Amino acid sequence: MNSIGRYFSNFFKALKSLLIGMKTTLKIFFRKKTTECYPENRKKDLYISPLYRGRLEMIHTADNHHHCVACGICQMNCPNGSIHVESEMVTDAEGKKTKVLKAYTYDLGRCMFCELCVRTCPHHAIQFTNQFENAVFTRSKLILTLNHPGSSLQPKAAAPKPAAAPATSAAAVPAAPTVSATAASAAPTVSASTPKAAEATPAAAPASASASPATAKAPESEATLPLNSESTNK
Ligand code: SF4
Ligand code: SF4
Repeated sequence: MNSIGRYFSNFFKALKSLLIGMKTTLKIFFRKKTTECYPENRKKDLYISPLYRGRLEMIHTADNHHHCVACGICQMNCPNGSIHVESEMVTDAEGKKTKVLKAYTYDLGRCMFCELCVRTCPHHAIQFTNQFENAVFTRSKLILTLNHPGSSLQPKAAAPKPAAAPATSAAAVPAAPTVSATAASAAPTVSASTPKAAEATPAAAPASASASPATAKAPESEATLPLNSESTNK
């Protein structure tokens, strides 16, 4: 390729690159702005991502209950020593001793926002808020007590009562002896008239056994026994 050909080739490559750049510029120019004009928009339309880790807090219910059992796992897992859990033993109304939280101290100035404390808490008692305006003039103001004054551990929910026993099973149990008793009482009459029917109802055997041991051994002999005895008496 001669020098004129190389000139026009480079010219069109540069023009293509320029158009691509202009296209990107125009696209961004007309897109919704993401720049935050802080602090002018502080009380208007300031957007902070909910995932932003601003500072640690302890979750409290409307009844001023928290979920912290003062186990100290968060304190053990904090790599910076930002957490100090102070607990005490109390005796409840049933005389049972329980460890309860006395003070949960969090040093915001030492926190590196790794969130290990939140992730290792077995009771989901703490969380990070996206509150980011934490600047103070003295370091001592960065040491915070996270449990609210007068707060206490959330009481456990009452255990659900066991389901009532099915009514059908209770009704079925007494029904069985009634049927067998009827069969037992009716058995001698039936066996006397039809020996084969006595074979079909073996439930009658125990009842009749108490009356005469001979009938318990062989149901068929029930039919023949009276006849034989009659013939013997004759
Ligand atoms: S915040 Fe969670 S891990 Fe820390 S002491 Fe309380 S219950 Fe245990
Ligand atoms: S976020 Fe990390 S450094 Fe901060 S208190 Fe929790 S465990 Fe400690």
